[in-house]
Amino acid sequence: LLAIKGVWKHYHGHSVLRGIDLEVRPHEVVCLIGASGSGKSTLLRCVNLLETIDDGTIHLDGREISDPRVNADKVRQRLGIVFQAFNLFPHMTVLDNITLAPRKVHKVGREQAEEHARGLLARFGLADKAGAYPDRLSGGQQQRVAIIRALATQPRLMLLDEVTSALDPALVAEVLGIIRELKEGGMTMILATHEMSFARDIADTVCFLDGGVLREHGTPEQIFTDPRHPRTRDFLRTVI
Ligand code: ATP
Ligand code: MG
Repeated sequence: LLAIKGVWKHYHGHSVLRGIDLEVRPHEVVCLIGASGSGKSTLLRCVNLLETIDDGTIHLDGREISDPRVNADKVRQRLGIVFQAFNLFPHMTVLDNITLAPRKVHKVGREQAEEHARGLLARFGLADKAGAYPDRLSGGQQQRVAIIRALATQPRLMLLDEVTSALDPALVAEVLGIIRELKEGGMTMILATHEMSFARDIADTVCFLDGGVLREHGTPEQIFTDPRHPRTRDFLRTVI
């Protein structure tokens, strides 16, 4: 579904991604782990075309999206993107937040968009919040709405960057729950996370990034119990 080949990214002469190769199959859940500054967010930003890459290619559904002639907005319409800060529109209700992109970008009618949105809210236990404004919701509820909003356009691939790190530990579980449900529904996802127990629990593939290099990838079982690369071992020792 996604193929990243030989991707390099430099900032001011400093290489932040150094030849990343990664393939993501349909329904696969990939977790990116690695120290702060290792390039996890940058890699996600390259996939959603918020950053241009300096070398290599990225293909989505067989089409090269890293080609500078590609319409980035069109590509982003097929991705669901959720970041650490919730970024809900504060002056809109939950329902309007969720239906905005389907209506304005995907030209879905109001009634149909709202019906779909209410279905998603019900599925994730937020049916009673449709008319609420974001400041009336807990952080965990806001982040769940942000995930639902990303889902509302029926993306091919979800990119989630540290979606739990701004949350109280007590609220982390409810957001992880929604991600687990997405996985059960077959959603393809790439998640950057510092929650090793969650990566271990949900990932099909864990990728260890180290100074912009993808040192090692494998099943959670392999990475967490039998890391091959000494850098992976060092990293896991510091975080587990
Ligand atoms: P964290 O776990 O803290 O979120 P990360 O793995 O997501 O870290 P990135 O945010 O991808 O790391 O950053 C990788 C490197 O790129 C860092 O050294 C960072 O300083 C640098 N970097 C990221 N964005 C920019 C930018 N816009 N301009 C210059 N340098 C940047
Ligand atoms: Mg980051």
